Amino acid sequence: MDIASPGRGDDHDKDVTGSNTRNDQALRKRRLAMSFTTYLATFLVVALFAYQGLIPLPIASHFLLFSIAVNGLFWLLIQLDLNLKLRDPSMTMLQITLSQWPALWVMFFLDAGQGRAIFLVITVVPLLYGILALNVRQFIQVSIIFFVQYCVLLLALWLLRPQVLETSIELVQLFVFIIVLAEVALIGGFISNLRGKLRLRNRELKDAMERIQQLVNIDELTGIYNRRRIVQALSDESNRCRRTPGPFSLGIVDVDHFKEVNDTYGHQAGDEILRKLAGAVVADLRAIDSFGRYGGEEFLLVLPQTSLTGAQIKSERICKTIRGLRFAGLAEDFRITVSIGVAEAFPGESTDDTLARADRALYEAKESGRDRVVCCTACSTPDTIGRPAPLV
Ligand code: GH3
Ligand code: MG
Ligand code: MG
Repeated sequence: MDIASPGRGDDHDKDVTGSNTRNDQALRKRRLAMSFTTYLATFLVVALFAYQGLIPLPIASHFLLFSIAVNGLFWLLIQLDLNLKLRDPSMTMLQITLSQWPALWVMFFLDAGQGRAIFLVITVVPLLYGILALNVRQFIQVSIIFFVQYCVLLLALWLLRPQVLETSIELVQLFVFIIVLAEVALIGGFISNLRGKLRLRNRELKDAMERIQQLVNIDELTGIYNRRRIVQALSDESNRCRRTPGPFSLGIVDVDHFKEVNDTYGHQAGDEILRKLAGAVVADLRAIDSFGRYGGEEFLLVLPQTSLTGAQIKSERICKTIRGLRFAGLAEDFRITVSIGVAEAFPGESTDDTLARADRALYEAKESGRDRVVCCTACSTPDTIGRPAPLV
């Protein structure tokens, strides 16, 4: 059964969740690769500083080593799925915060205040990665962390290398840094919010599409396939058989004396009986079988890769299941029964012809006393309808 089969939906959800996680992890790795490229681009600037003699050569290599170590560590966390245990599996805040460290290290060794100013601009770039994940509040948080980390650098310079500090320039630089951080945080947060809204819209759209699919395919009363969908399942199976020959059978299931049931117990009770009956049949189907409401109190059973004998066994079981159903609010000895007309499709036969043969078998089942299965054997003429002995 393709849908409405209890338990199957849960597995499907698990599959979907699993593949979503894999997609998310792959995306995180792509972002990490992008981030590493940014580190390498910054390293070029660091190398230029070293080449110009503005910083000692080992400091440039520290930058490179740090870039490889940090990105390698994040890659490993993602590879081992350890990041999934964190509150933010994307580790965005952490990655952005750490990105400033090697830059601060280089800045500590820069003698020229101007060089530090240039480098300070570059350190803001990783903040842009926040657009992919952070909200305004987180953007402001990470900007404050950036600011505090830079203040720690200034403090270290003031304590250890006061000769490289020029108060007036440092103050202007600090002021510009604050302005730039504030602007990036606000604009970034704004764009990030827009992305969030877009994601929400997409989700709503997806839900709406799923709902439409349901309305198109599912019978509102019973929750199983409607006529459109079960006929589609039948035609799909018929086409499949044309491509890869093999048996397939169908059954028309019709509730016995249902008019009388309605007249005696009321239409609402009738509806409830149809619901319960449909649920009971669906619960006992193979994943490849389909069962849908063909119209009124008539249902269609499509059994791929099933010969007439197999279809008969299955149909007898359905008869028995339905005979055993009890209905709340109805008399204890009340039983509902169904008659089933079964036919196996001939190679190359149209679905209409197979349906017509099953319908004639159903007629035969009704005529011969109801609550039974009649199989349409050999050929398609009404007088050759045969009724094999019921199977136990
Ligand atoms: P038979 O054993 O020959 O099939 O007798 P029957 O009474 O089932 O056959 P008939 O075709 O005369 O009646 C079908 C009844 O099914 C009539 C109709 O009121 C009822 N029915 C069809 N659709 C629904 C529905 O959605 N809800 C309810 N409660 N009854 C329905
Ligand atoms: Mg009926
Ligand atoms: Mg009927």
